[in-house]
Amino acid sequence: MKYEAVIGAEVHAELATETKLFCGCPTTFGAPPNTQTCPVCLGMPGVLPVMNRKAFECALKIALALNCRVDEITSFDRKNYYYPDLPKNYQISQNHRNLGREGYLDIVVDGALKRVNIWNVHLEEDAGKLVHPESSSDSGTLVDLNRTGTPLLEIVSAPDMRNTAEVEAFMKTLRNILLYTGVSDCKMQEGRLRFEPSISLRPVGEQTLGARVEVKNVGSITAVVKAVEYEIERQTKALESGEKLPQETRLWDDRLSRTASMRRKETSADYRYFPEPDLVEVRISEEWQAKVRGTLPELPVAKRLRFQKSFGLGDYEAAVLTDDKSFADYYEACLAIGGASPKAIANWMINDVLRHLNEQRIEMAQFPCAPARVAALAGLVEKGTIGLGTAREVFAEMVAADRDPAEIVKSKGLAQISDESFILEVVNRVLAANAKSVADYKAGKSAAFNALIGPVMRETKGKANPQVVRQLLEKRLAES
Ligand code: ZN
Ligand code: MN
Repeated sequence: MKYEAVIGAEVHAELATETKLFCGCPTTFGAPPNTQTCPVCLGMPGVLPVMNRKAFECALKIALALNCRVDEITSFDRKNYYYPDLPKNYQISQNHRNLGREGYLDIVVDGALKRVNIWNVHLEEDAGKLVHPESSSDSGTLVDLNRTGTPLLEIVSAPDMRNTAEVEAFMKTLRNILLYTGVSDCKMQEGRLRFEPSISLRPVGEQTLGARVEVKNVGSITAVVKAVEYEIERQTKALESGEKLPQETRLWDDRLSRTASMRRKETSADYRYFPEPDLVEVRISEEWQAKVRGTLPELPVAKRLRFQKSFGLGDYEAAVLTDDKSFADYYEACLAIGGASPKAIANWMINDVLRHLNEQRIEMAQFPCAPARVAALAGLVEKGTIGLGTAREVFAEMVAADRDPAEIVKSKGLAQISDESFILEVVNRVLAANAKSVADYKAGKSAAFNALIGPVMRETKGKANPQVVRQLLEKRLAES
């Protein structure tokens, strides 16, 4: 029997606000343990939460970016559970009236658009962190409550994905939207963006869903892809041997590259959700919604399609250029300066600039040169002032000392020679000195032509414009 994978995802993103969701404590990452707390986020009796307006607007922004329906009234609920890093024994979340629902995210997989439905987008508070000491002399587990109450956006997708390529595109596109809108810094290594895939299998053609396995503790996009692959394989084997799979939550072990059962999945009834009595409902007026919608930037997939259409780029080029907003912005800044075609500048961005960023392990913001430099370099090649090989050397110097490429070319005398009378003199000398090659060429050996180009390039130290050299050689050979 052939099986089909049905994959959905729950995404948690910490919002990039300076303070927590219901109190004024800072959210700075990496502060000494338990230094960013107050009675509210410690869950002391009698305290009252106050909604952070900026966090609420960030959440609203994403609900709109994900094409969700936003009702006029949204409200908060208590999700009850006991965990040592949750001092209140409940999390303020949303269950009955989510901020956004019935949205979708369009992703591009193998050059084609695919729609993943979004069930809901809601706002909640993060829990603290348990710290397990690494040295064997320390025992026990410590609790750090700095993270408690950090605003967290949860996005729940429909199980619309069928393979790992779609899961990967979903995660990357969603991460880009969060980065493009500036609502989260998406640092997965710091746990600020978490993807939890859920995977079930069913026989091809079957409509009902199989038992859903949710995977937690997956710390990177690569790990999520590996975990999904692992689950598809594990579940296929189990079903093939006639096993009945339970609905459960499993933990990903990155070191061993496998999942292990954590707990049989609780249902939402287990959380005893009830309306949070300490918070009022939030009314989202048409005007407020319109105002927040007005702050949305052009989103990644739209930008990618526009780059293809307006600049004549291929799907791959447009995808690479728009993968990072600052990279796309830099590219458009180069175009605004002009002096070279969009295609030529795109090639410099994708090949040389990106390679430099990767080699130096730096972000676009740390790239040493302004867009004018890259535009100028692309222009020098396109106008034929320097060849591509020389341009690569100029690029290396340009980024090493943030120098103007035209100035590097001038000071090192790298400019290509296109002066016809000068090149013609060299061509004449070379023809006179290579009678054998000339005779071979006339006897029909076309390879002899290249044997004549070599000496011309050598005599000009590689600076003669190859196109002019070819033209003049052809012309002189036809005349003689
Ligand atoms: Zn606090
Ligand atoms: Mn949640």
